[in-house]
Amino acid sequence: MRPAREARAGGPARSGASGEGFRIRRRGGLRVFEADLLAEIPSLRHAFSTRRGGSSGGCFSSLNFSFRQGDEAENVRANWAALSRAFGIAPERFLTVHQVHGNRVWVIDGAESIPTSGDGDAREDAPRCDAIVTNRPGIAIGVKTADCVPVLIADPVRRVIAAVHAGWQGTARRIVEHVCAALEARFSCRREDLRAAIGPAIGPCCYEVDDRVREAMAGLPGLERIFSPRDAPGRWRLDLALANRLQLRNAGMPASRVAEANLCTACRPDLFFSHRGSGGKAGRHFSFLLMDGESGAG
Ligand SMILES: [Zn+2]
Repeated sequence: MRPAREARAGGPARSGASGEGFRIRRRGGLRVFEADLLAEIPSLRHAFSTRRGGSSGGCFSSLNFSFRQGDEAENVRANWAALSRAFGIAPERFLTVHQVHGNRVWVIDGAESIPTSGDGDAREDAPRCDAIVTNRPGIAIGVKTADCVPVLIADPVRRVIAAVHAGWQGTARRIVEHVCAALEARFSCRREDLRAAIGPAIGPCCYEVDDRVREAMAGLPGLERIFSPRDAPGRWRLDLALANRLQLRNAGMPASRVAEANLCTACRPDLFFSHRGSGGKAGRHFSFLLMDGESGAG
């Protein structure tokens, strides 16, 4: 793995400003990104967190949502409490999973009990998977990332939402296409009704991979656009966000309904944690969405 700074020089450009339809907002004391496509949906709340506005210090400065990277638990708890206050969402309504870089989708419908921990972290018995889909109002489903791609999807017609964590392995296993299939099979969502927002992630400017990764992705749509050759043989720059956007298109979503933040987590240490950019020691962002209404955690 090369340092991000070296990989960045002379690479494909990724603008420092966010993509069209994404904007940074102040929520309470926090700074978060929101996508217009999702913000327009009545009773839907969502955010892609930045690292700004939290209580953590050092490499976790300051809005780290992971208890598992070495940050002090007290600070992480304060960060979850700040998110809760900023969005008016009770802590026990945040729901996440143990992410494992797979393509399994956890579908929550009906009255099944929901294992929220109350402190924002995944409970011990929470599923090991990388996508959550639900039609239950009042539950803020989300994923944690620091370079991987967070994708938030909503169907304003059927009132169903999805949160997806897509690293290179989940992307190779077509996790967002599995989510679209689950939305259709379980909730009768139509592809043309879906809206998706692809959040900040490591860009092709800073993400260099080898042949092994390219081979794992050999069947994906738009392969020649996703990978661009490096000057060294067997080395490639990978555009993970684009790979997920093309999969959503492949799943039948209209291009106009997919927004991309177009922000590189490694290029913008002022805004984001980056696993690669920091040599492996970094905090985690939380990207979530929720449909307002009665029901809640049970
Ligand atoms: Zn970059």
